Amino acid sequence: MPAFALDAADPPPVEIVRPRAPRPLVLTCEHGGNALPAHLAGRAPAPADMARHIAWDVGAAAVARGLAARLQAALCLQRYSRLVIDCNRPRHAPDLAPAVSDGTPVPFNATLSEPDLDARWTAIHAPFHAAVAGLLDARPGGALVAVHSFTPRLRGGPPRPMMAGLLVRQDPTLAEALQRALAASAPDAAVVLNQPYAIEDASDYTIPVHAERRGLPHVLIEIRNDLIATPAGVARWTALLADALAPATGDHAWTSTA
Ligand SMILES: [Zn+2]
Repeated sequence: MPAFALDAADPPPVEIVRPRAPRPLVLTCEHGGNALPAHLAGRAPAPADMARHIAWDVGAAAVARGLAARLQAALCLQRYSRLVIDCNRPRHAPDLAPAVSDGTPVPFNATLSEPDLDARWTAIHAPFHAAVAGLLDARPGGALVAVHSFTPRLRGGPPRPMMAGLLVRQDPTLAEALQRALAASAPDAAVVLNQPYAIEDASDYTIPVHAERRGLPHVLIEIRNDLIATPAGVARWTALLADALAPATGDHAWTSTA
């Protein structure tokens, strides 16, 4: 009997939005959802905790969906909570399925075995990244943009005043173009490079595996989640980012409504 499996009543892990969109750009949202498989619900953190940044990137899916619509771009979105398995972590990251996240215990991760982790990887992580690879295969040379959000303050940590971070390690071309465009369109927006995180093999999966190995233009966008906690905030940041990304990701050639 498998250690972990989704059953027929659980939603599939991956949602692909606009799979045939023509723009040579793939959007990803690894922490977009906070769904739980039904069999874990009885050992989950409290609902209020499942609504916080420990369970998902608050607001990120709404911005990613808005970007997919405005840019006519494909989006690969993960439905399950990062607490079940973090789809932007490599297999042996210590926080792949954390027993405690930002001070909050996660009971369904309290006693996980390696076969448990393998089974979650197979059921949730692997199909997400197979879908990302498929979308990139269909758009040779296309860019990859990952959409995330961060909490203004971790428990016991210093405030994080930046409004958005553009994370990149190997090729800063797209991140720098985006930063310049945002500085021109929203000088108040405090957009910085490689804060509050950096791309690292130990803590990242999508950018190293899909973008760096293929040599694709890429950036991981982190938006402070209090800025995208309302529909008005989502609309503002979606518009700012779409206008900044469009010229750098093939804006001249893609006008259809896929
Ligand atoms: Zn994230």
